[in-house]
Amino acid sequence: MNARDNTLYVILLGAPGAGKGTQAVLLSQQARLVHLASGDLFREVRQQDTEIGRLVKSYYDKGELVPDDVTIRMILERLSQPDCQSGCLLDGFPRTLQQALALDDAFHAQGKRIERVVSIAVERAELLRRLGGRWLCQRCGASYHTVSAPPKVGGTCDRCGGELYQRADDTEETAKNRLDVYDRQTAPLVDYYRTRDVLAEVNGQGQVESVQAAVVAALR
Ligand code: AMP
Repeated sequence: MNARDNTLYVILLGAPGAGKGTQAVLLSQQARLVHLASGDLFREVRQQDTEIGRLVKSYYDKGELVPDDVTIRMILERLSQPDCQSGCLLDGFPRTLQQALALDDAFHAQGKRIERVVSIAVERAELLRRLGGRWLCQRCGASYHTVSAPPKVGGTCDRCGGELYQRADDTEETAKNRLDVYDRQTAPLVDYYRTRDVLAEVNGQGQVESVQAAVVAALR
């Protein structure tokens, strides 16, 4: 928590499948923070039959990043909404150095700052295994896995009863590309935030509960 103005802005960094979404859902409930997931915003826009919808779909479906100018405009606009003024949990943004610099500039101009960046690390083989069998709840975002964490009733969320779906970009080939994109374009942000002294690194290989405890500890 920023003592000057009681705001709390946290970034969750990590490759696709590292558990950012799962941890963000838990943390946002616990800390009553808005969960801002760039991937969720793009999934909504991707459905629209508009120029921007088609543009987002063309990148999303290949596992490529949506261009920085579009992404930065969209996220900064979302961050300017009233519900984000006392803080939020950024999940999936920033993902490039240019996005990180744009966020720093915008926050600097508004007298805000990033309190903590939590980087969740998981080995590549485990990431591919997780993405391969992943099912998500339409309604609450909870995550399941065909082998390691199946729902009690197939296709239905244990937590809220919502319908489960598989993401279009979780196919094997696209998932591999997303991990390559992460290594090339997003992993350098770990060093970027380390030099700014806000980075906490968490091992994301364990059970959801133990990773959650490590994330909470990193925020203290
Ligand atoms: P995610 O749900 O975070 O894995 O994001 C799904 C997809 O949305 C990514 O593969 C990108 O196509 C797009 N996306 C999400 N966040 C960003 C971002 N910060 N910059 C560019 N593209 C993004």
